[in-house]
Amino acid sequence: MPIRVHDTLSRTVKALAPREPALPYRMYCCGPTVYGPAHIGNFRTFLIQDVLRRCLEIDGLEVRHVRNITDVDDKTIRQSQAEGVSLKSFTDKWTGKFHADCGALNLLPPHVEPSAVEHIPLQVAMIEKLVANGNAYATSDGSVYFKVCSCHDYGKLSHLDRDALRTQEVNSAGTANDADEYERESVTDFALWKSHKPADGENHWPSPWGEGRPGWHIECSAMSTRYLGNTFDLHGGGIDLCFPHHENEIAQSECSTGEKDFAAHWFHSMHLMVDGAKMSKSLGNLYTLDDLKGKGATPMAVRYALISGHYRSQLNFTLKSLDDAAGALGKIEKATEKLLEKCGLTKTDFTPPAVQEQNTAWGEFQAAWDTLCDDLNVPGALGKIFGALHTVTATDRTIEQARADLSGLGKILYALGLLLFTAKADDSATDVPADVAELGLRRWEAKQARNFAEADKLRAELESKGWKSLDRKDGYTLAKV
Ligand code: AMP
Ligand code: ZN
Repeated sequence: MPIRVHDTLSRTVKALAPREPALPYRMYCCGPTVYGPAHIGNFRTFLIQDVLRRCLEIDGLEVRHVRNITDVDDKTIRQSQAEGVSLKSFTDKWTGKFHADCGALNLLPPHVEPSAVEHIPLQVAMIEKLVANGNAYATSDGSVYFKVCSCHDYGKLSHLDRDALRTQEVNSAGTANDADEYERESVTDFALWKSHKPADGENHWPSPWGEGRPGWHIECSAMSTRYLGNTFDLHGGGIDLCFPHHENEIAQSECSTGEKDFAAHWFHSMHLMVDGAKMSKSLGNLYTLDDLKGKGATPMAVRYALISGHYRSQLNFTLKSLDDAAGALGKIEKATEKLLEKCGLTKTDFTPPAVQEQNTAWGEFQAAWDTLCDDLNVPGALGKIFGALHTVTATDRTIEQARADLSGLGKILYALGLLLFTAKADDSATDVPADVAELGLRRWEAKQARNFAEADKLRAELESKGWKSLDRKDGYTLAKV
């Protein structure tokens, strides 16, 4: 049964399949803005994207997953300046922290993780194309704007009435620009290139329109096209990105390449709320992974709690939900131990299934898998898992049945990315220093790109810092030597 997921563009639940059967399933997800630790709302979105990727892979698709790093925008520039450090050392630090958190939460590393700042010439080239095509114009101060009225189907994703649009956010800070400040022809036009302002300090790059920096939206159009092609299969992000970010990405990409259907499927997850309110630093309800670890939660309990609501509903996170998650994981572990014992196996034998044998013989866990395939219904699947655990731990199960049960359980837990018996291992994983996490990721990427000389060099560097990488087929864990 193919995986079916809601598509914001068509407003229907659609089966996922590569639009080019000879190519991998190509998915692009908007990544973090690295100006501080990611919060659990960000992770809600990254986690459901991870579950989606796992399900596609289990279903037999080869997936190419690209997730960018936003390391140049108003927030990163302002904050690095406030701390008196270069943009690069500031964003490297927070990128490293992001990777360490992703590792602890058992997120599969994307196949490509492009940095916006390292792709500025590519963004400039796309803007030049838009200017040449008559979709963008430069102003006398050396900024460039996208001309929204030149894009006849602008608004198709968010189903907005273009004429009703009054203002356009041009940065990820969530503030609308003051139209008077800019020489925009229309208040709906958004910045592709921002001319250098004294407040940007040393952070400016050359362009045909003078020194400046890219607007926020263009990075995802340029990098998704570079790594996935003019059109690809799925684009994901939190619902807040639907307008204007994704709408603007569509306009930029389709107008520069001339292709329709930039992304065939738009996958948006609803926001995470905390104690019934929007998360914000001022309300004191903004949590990072470290905050929750400080309250005694394991990263796996955090993962469980963040995926346990349906992605198309707002999730109300409470600290109690972490206790519930830990309790649920404990029950799964107990049942698994019983099964292992019956089969004469130990906890270390309970490893992720090989990819090629994943979508076969679900046994008692078939209903859980089918539920997960139906619009990634994680809460429904968890319910089915608990129903099945009841059956599989009954005393009259044969050893053959127990073996099949164990295999089905291993597969469904892999789909959800839930690791068992890892409370201790998780602790050590989250204590990975940022520079070690960074080295670990670079080594993994080099290995994936079959650049073995570089991978060996990075392994030696890791070892000199007292760390090693434990590689699996689907990812790696960093551990102390
Ligand atoms: P940012 O680091 O702000 O660029 O956001 C990274 C990702 O997290 C984007 O896909 C956002 O849509 C998503 N996101 C931000 N806040 C939340 C939230 N409260 N709940 C779920 N996703 C969020
Ligand atoms: Zn984006």
